[in-house]
Amino acid sequence: MNMNHKSSLIFLGTGTSEGVPRVSCLTRDPVTCENCASAVVPGSRNRRRNTSLLLRYAHPDGRTRNIVIDTGKFFWHSAIEWFPKFKVPTIDAVVLTHAHVDASGGLDDLRDWTNNVQRSIPIFVRRLDMDALSKIFFYLVDTSKATGGGGVSRLAFTYIGDEPFEVEGLKFTPLPVWHGRPNTAFGYRFGDVAYLSDVSEIPETTAKLIEGTKLLILDALRPNRPHRSHFTLEQAIDQIRIFRPERTLLVDMTHDYNHERTNVELSKLKASDGIDVQLAYDGQLVEALDL
Ligand SMILES: [Zn+2]
Ligand SMILES: [Zn+2]
Repeated sequence: MNMNHKSSLIFLGTGTSEGVPRVSCLTRDPVTCENCASAVVPGSRNRRRNTSLLLRYAHPDGRTRNIVIDTGKFFWHSAIEWFPKFKVPTIDAVVLTHAHVDASGGLDDLRDWTNNVQRSIPIFVRRLDMDALSKIFFYLVDTSKATGGGGVSRLAFTYIGDEPFEVEGLKFTPLPVWHGRPNTAFGYRFGDVAYLSDVSEIPETTAKLIEGTKLLILDALRPNRPHRSHFTLEQAIDQIRIFRPERTLLVDMTHDYNHERTNVELSKLKASDGIDVQLAYDGQLVEALDL
């Protein structure tokens, strides 16, 4: 086996549902939102598409598998930027956290792959999300209902429950969390990585499954103002103090964050609290993971 064959992660998006920039921030006269103004500059780390992760799993057979967690409204915008850059031709599977459109809206755009590159794409989804998806994407769930004449995405839906399941040989453990009660979402643990993109509370039973995580990817919608469906920055940091992973990267962020300035502030927590936490950014690569 090739010892250099390691897994990696690419953040396809790190923003909340509306993305960053807000159009209304850019049309205000004069523009007063510094972060949205910065977000339109090419290469800006304040540009945030819907939160989504590409896991490049180093399968023991030597062929890397491309597993995407969530394909939201801005999936296409992420894919045109990052798939060519990182030379990712195929999608081996998509795993959804929940049915909200910032997690699922890109299922329609998977047609490019199933029309041109591969026969179909397996989609791992909770049964309750399937009820919502069959209303939004009725023509993808039952392709006989497609009327446009073009090829729609060919998706192979697989239901998942609370039990661990395998994606291309990699074990995914669901991390059920509250996402604004009474709504729930799944986070996932794979290897020493825990991914929680949409969370307002972590139940005790799920907390046990997160213990021992080395890399935590965590929802931190915005600083200061509480929100019913997401952790704030302060709440996220409280969780990091509990789990104490080696490293935390924050996602699902609004325009309230200035990437560089916030990360300078957050890096002070290393000395003061012994925690390593930073805002993630679209296109960020995390290499050399053992999964
Ligand atoms: Zn703004
Ligand atoms: Zn959501």
